[in-house]
Amino acid sequence: KLSKRLETVAKFVPTGAVVADIGSDHAYLPCYLIHQGVASSAIAGEVVAGPYESAVGQVQKEGLHHEITVRLADGLAAIELTDHVDTVTIAGMGGPLIVSILEKHPEKLQGVTRLILQPNIHAKVIREWALAHNWAILDEEILEEDDKIYEILVLQRAQMELSTAEILFGPKLSTRKAPAFVKKWTREKENWQRVLLSIKDAEQTPEIEEKRAELLALIQLVEGV
Ligand code: SAM
Repeated sequence: KLSKRLETVAKFVPTGAVVADIGSDHAYLPCYLIHQGVASSAIAGEVVAGPYESAVGQVQKEGLHHEITVRLADGLAAIELTDHVDTVTIAGMGGPLIVSILEKHPEKLQGVTRLILQPNIHAKVIREWALAHNWAILDEEILEEDDKIYEILVLQRAQMELSTAEILFGPKLSTRKAPAFVKKWTREKENWQRVLLSIKDAEQTPEIEEKRAELLALIQLVEGV
């Protein structure tokens, strides 16, 4: 059974999509998408030999080798323009790694109309990347599984404007304020307050002052939402 996290990613894949799942590991997501009749075909990309072999094995085992092509490649290099991929999923990595994958081979995104990204941490850098590259947030989701909180960002090509707070919290997530959202930012705020307390009696260097101001600003932002 697919994790709730990947099931939520799958929920945002349009019916009939041609999907590239980058960093696919066991290729569980593309297999699920084909079995559910959501994707019409898929590429599973992996850069590491072990997970690549797992993906190949899983696709064989499920008898999906006609629908899913597994490629050993770095990031978007797994996509060939003749694949006509329209949807890219990248899940289970940190935000900065996801952004570096998107930036390395931008030409591979030519025919892509939807990105479904699931950063384990630092979703903020993905929103910054989206803003700078004319992708807009179509939807967002936050969920808790095994005591971890995950965010999912669904992007389409359009212009958007985001405030500083929206870049950090997500424009949709901060409006909806789901329980997982409240939990995540309450935790973060407590962490910042702890750090603030730990530097309370520290020497008054410009670095410490800067850190203090930064933490206070973050705490204020959280309190604002
Ligand atoms: N996407 C799956 C999921 O969400 O469950 C697997 C996540 S796993 C933690 C991350 C995978 O991304 C690993 O298998 C790793 O080898 C792969 N990966 C990391 N950097 C990559 C890159 N530049 N290109 C392709 N795959 C990459």
